[in-house]
Amino acid sequence: MPHVSLQNVTKVFGEDTVALDDVSIEITAGEFVVILGPSGAGKSTLLRILNGLTEPTTGTAQIGGSPVSKSGSDVGMVFQMHYLIESLSAYRNALTGALARTSNLKSVLTLNRTDDKRAALHALETVGLLSDAEQRAGTMSGGQKQRVGIARALVQNPSLLLADEPVSSLDPKAARDVMRYMRQAARERELTTIASLHQVNIAREFGDRFIGVRDGTVVFDGSRAELSMDIIDDIYYTDSESTPISRGETESFAHDSTTASDTGVTADSDNTASRNHHTSANTNAETETDADTDTPILTQEKHNYEHRYSR
Ligand code: ADP
Repeated sequence: MPHVSLQNVTKVFGEDTVALDDVSIEITAGEFVVILGPSGAGKSTLLRILNGLTEPTTGTAQIGGSPVSKSGSDVGMVFQMHYLIESLSAYRNALTGALARTSNLKSVLTLNRTDDKRAALHALETVGLLSDAEQRAGTMSGGQKQRVGIARALVQNPSLLLADEPVSSLDPKAARDVMRYMRQAARERELTTIASLHQVNIAREFGDRFIGVRDGTVVFDGSRAELSMDIIDDIYYTDSESTPISRGETESFAHDSTTASDTGVTADSDNTASRNHHTSANTNAETETDADTDTPILTQEKHNYEHRYSR
């Protein structure tokens, strides 16, 4: 039985905006799937249907053989904007992932459970941020914040991880770091993962299976080897008068370029490589002055965690 199944899913917004048109997809447990497609293709709608935020107009969506639940408690979500609480530490932000697992009241009462604390630290370790656990999220680089966002989703202990354009606001190096950690997390935990991306180069590097969506329909479903230049043009390019977008990327496919030639990658002021550099250099100084009230508890927990679990 597939872990994720969409059968003849159509989603119409308003009178006639067809976001998805008779989409059928089956995904096996543990697959790392990248959804490719231009803006407006229907990628977010597909992910939103899988986390219960949007209902299909017709057709069915199932996870683990059951209809997608509205609570989305079984689905971890990584967003383009990480939505961290900037005043809290990376650890506290990761820990909030436990809130999504149970009802609000129950989770508030159990937020400090040892299991949750351990899960938060394990998740931060998975994304390479255990040593930065005490750092305030607001002082982190864009890439680090996104990795905290992944950790938070992992703490939820989901059976399915969804990521909607998780690296589109990062520079290419930070984007690759985030994707590497996400794939590592998925492999470590055998976690079914579906990420929508519009950066073709990065997608090709990290995806195992690719689903190309254009105008609400699946126009490609295959492996990296099958994702040829012509297919990429077909996914992104509908107007025969225009320049196919993938042509300019031919060389970077071969050379693992980290230049801004990645489709759609922009380096905003918060996420430049120099800021990443600056932040990692300042990590200790910022941690020492971090007035996060959780720090004494965390230090003890982190010590316990490292003592028992880290290799
Ligand atoms: P993508 O994620 O690939 O950019 P979306 O799934 O966001 O595409 O959008 C697919 C289509 O559905 C677009 O035409 C978009 O304008 C439309 N759409 C998405 N969400 C809504 C909404 N809540 N209300 C109306 N139209 C929507």
